[in-house]
Amino acid sequence: MRGAVLYGPRDVRFEERETPKIMKPTDAVIRISATCVCGSDLWPYRGIQPMAQPTPMGHEYCGIVEEVGSAVTRIKPGQFVIGSFFASDNTCPNCQIGYQSSCQQAEFVGGAQAPLLRVPLADGTLVATRDVPSENSIPNLLALSDVMGTGWFTADAANVKPGKTVAVVGGAVGLLGVLSAKQMGAERITAMSRHETRQKLAREFGATDIVTERGDEGVERIKELTNGIGADSALECVGTQQSMMQAIQSTRRGGYVGYVGVPHGVELNVEQLFYAHEHLHGGPAPVRRFLPELIDLVWKGKINPVKGFDLTLPLDQVAEGYRAMDERRAIKVLLRPTR
Ligand SMILES: [Zn+2]
Repeated sequence: MRGAVLYGPRDVRFEERETPKIMKPTDAVIRISATCVCGSDLWPYRGIQPMAQPTPMGHEYCGIVEEVGSAVTRIKPGQFVIGSFFASDNTCPNCQIGYQSSCQQAEFVGGAQAPLLRVPLADGTLVATRDVPSENSIPNLLALSDVMGTGWFTADAANVKPGKTVAVVGGAVGLLGVLSAKQMGAERITAMSRHETRQKLAREFGATDIVTERGDEGVERIKELTNGIGADSALECVGTQQSMMQAIQSTRRGGYVGYVGVPHGVELNVEQLFYAHEHLHGGPAPVRRFLPELIDLVWKGKINPVKGFDLTLPLDQVAEGYRAMDERRAIKVLLRPTR
């Protein structure tokens, strides 16, 4: 089997790798129908997050179950399944309250930019669709595995409710945060973006306003749009000091910040936070919590996250996918294995 392996900064190779197989009785092996490149893959790709050794890449996946271990009872070969980047048993105390990405048995699922993938804790991790989906809906379902599931969690963590005002900072996840906020009934959704294609997409997903300014000016613009008080909710989907401060300062007293951008060198001043009177809630999205509901929304045609993918490539061109996202020629790249 050939799959994507990152060797070092800007060096992704599509090369021969060991074929995944069942290693524990709770595993499944799935044949990938679609995968993609994540914004967070760009951190190691750019050398900002160093790696000790060549690493198989990819953590967003959906596909057909090929084989299951002897202890797997709920998931069966032939089913179409979606899972998250953290395997979870879905039964421990953390899972039971909806924090599957903090499962006591959590295990990162990596190596999905390949034709086959081993998924640990298959019964807890994977959610099967009622039927094998049509070709057209596969990209929509793939999006749930991370980018849409994470966007949804951000909006959920930021307490987005009908009639509320929402400010959204950042990237592909941010765009799906806009879609999530719209679906949750937010009245006014401001996307903060300087990038024209992203602005257009944000509007399609439900943004009512666009703010192109950053820093204090960006915060001022949000205040102008919210009668001087700030947004009820802010969605932070980047993970830099600037984006985090943008989100915190754009939020009103008593408001909520949902943050899912993996922080890189972000430091907060607790004294400032103390007087800001805000709720902060974030972390690795417990995507598994939302999968049943999100699958249902896709199945009924109520959400179309696929619009967030603006480039589709055959899997063997994965290196070009990374380049396109790194150079901001693409927002989000979908990869399809060829048969
Ligand atoms: Zn658990």
